[in-house]
This record gives sequence, structure tokens and C-alpha cells, in this order.
Amino acid sequence: THRLLASSITKSYGATIALEQVTLALEPGQVHALLGENGAGKSTLVKILSGVLRPNSGSIEIDGKPYAPASILAGRRAGVATAFQELSLPPNLSVAEALLLPAMRKGVLGLISGRRTVDEAAAILARYRLTDVSPLQSIAALSLAQRQRLEIARALHNAGKVLVLDEPTAALTDVGWLFDLVREKTDAGVAVLYISHRLAEVRQLCPRATVLRNGRSVASVDLSDATDAD
Ligand code: ADP
Ligand code: ADP
Repeated sequence: THRLLASSITKSYGATIALEQVTLALEPGQVHALLGENGAGKSTLVKILSGVLRPNSGSIEIDGKPYAPASILAGRRAGVATAFQELSLPPNLSVAEALLLPAMRKGVLGLISGRRTVDEAAAILARYRLTDVSPLQSIAALSLAQRQRLEIARALHNAGKVLVLDEPTAALTDVGWLFDLVREKTDAGVAVLYISHRLAEVRQLCPRATVLRNGRSVASVDLSDATDAD
């Protein structure tokens, strides 16, 4: 099982302090919610945990080992994968390329034929039940909901230890699909961070939540015996 501990994370953009001394622990097999209004610092924390943004100070450990954000590859090497709110898949790629790009960057696919690449992508699509998407389609031809499911599927596939889901249901019509797959990851011991303003989802999935306000962690909430009023 896997655990992430981010300690005293501070990040500023020029004079704007986006995060100030934020500490966050993601526990094995749990979905931890990150809540906060616009400008609270959620995107900044997501970028830091994903590996793409360096904090000014503070430290992160995964399973007790130091994790230093430097690039998306630093995240991949550490077993962290993120489904970004902005849907990060480049529209000029095919579905297969989008799914396999991390492996290609590692050089794994350098000598593999096109046929094998397509088969491998098809297997990932089947594994994550993206039955309405095919490997050779271009990202640009997908609907918004399909792009979001592909973004999520890629993150699920790459998240060996830590999965970050930033507003993953914004374009989704079938939330059950996501919840089933997230539970498979937590059953496998993966630690999950879930950013959403949809509180019904948070109550359903997340035993704990951290609330950010103006870059500070102002509350760490136990939701495990909250009653569902909706
Ligand atoms: P959200 O709050 O839904 O995450 P935002 O609209 O706050 O989205 O931000 C969208 C993107 O723009 C994020 O990647 C964020 O880091 C970036 N961003 C937010 N505020 C600024 C700013 N003042 N200058 C430049 N980029 C910003
Ligand atoms: P949230 O995702 O909760 O909306 P962000 O992390 O996007 O919060 O933003 C936190 C603060 O940092 C905000 O004041 C925002 O305007 C600022 N900010 C975010 N990204 C940038 C950026 N690239 N350049 C300058 N300011 C930024």
C-alpha cells in the first residue's frame, strides 16, 4: 500500500502566495478530498503533487522516500498520475499515442511496431471500459466526455502509487464508471486525492477532506460518519 506525505509546502508566484505551509497526508487506499474556493490554491497543489511545479519550500515523501517535483516524468517515476481539469491530452495525438506517450518517452516503445502499439492501447481502453473509443481516433474527434474519460483512464493506468483527480466529473455523464474504477485503485492500496466542488460526490467517496483558504490549510475534516442528506 502507498502513502504520500506533503509537509509545509509553500509556493508563491511573484508576490502572490498561492500556498503557505500546507501539510497533507494521503493514506493508503483512501480517497482524500481537497476543497476550497477559486483561488484557494488547489490547482497549485495539484501541479506540485503531479510533479510539474516545484514548491519554494517544503517536502514530499511517497512511501517514506523523498519525492522532488521537477517535471511530469518525475511524477511518473514516483508512481504519481494526474487527471487534469484542463484535459491535458494534446488534440493532435491519436488515442493510442495519448495513452502510450509516457511509455514512449521512457523509450519503451521505440522499436515496437504500429500494430503492437494499437493492440496495447486497445487493451488499456478495454481494461478501463472505454468501449466507445478506438485507438486510431484523434483526440480532436472525441466528445468532451470521451476526452475526460480518456484523461482519467490514462491517469488510472499510470497511477502505481498516487492518483490525483482534479474535477474529474465536470464533463462526465456516468459518474458510476469513475467511482467503480477509483474503488479498484483504492482496493489495490493506491492513495487518491480528489478535487471537486460537488459535495455529494465527496461525501460518497472521501472519508477525509482538507480545506484550503487563501493558500492555507484551514481544516482537516473527518467525513466518515457524515450522514448523506441529499
Ligand atoms: P481552478 O480554480 O478551477 O483550478 P483557475 O481558473 O483558478 O482554475 O485557474 C486555471 C489555471 O490558471 C490554473 O492552472 C492556474 O494555476 C492558472 N492561474 C490561476 N490564476 C492565475 C494567475 N493570476 N495568473 C496566471 N495563471 C493563473
Ligand atoms: P485554485 O485552483 O484553488 O483556484 P490556484 O492554485 O489556481 O487556486 O491559485 C492560487 C492563487 O495563485 C490565486 O491567487 C491565483 O490567482 C494565483 N496563481 C495561480 N497560478 C498562477 C500563476 N501561474 N501566476 C500567478 N498567479 C497564479
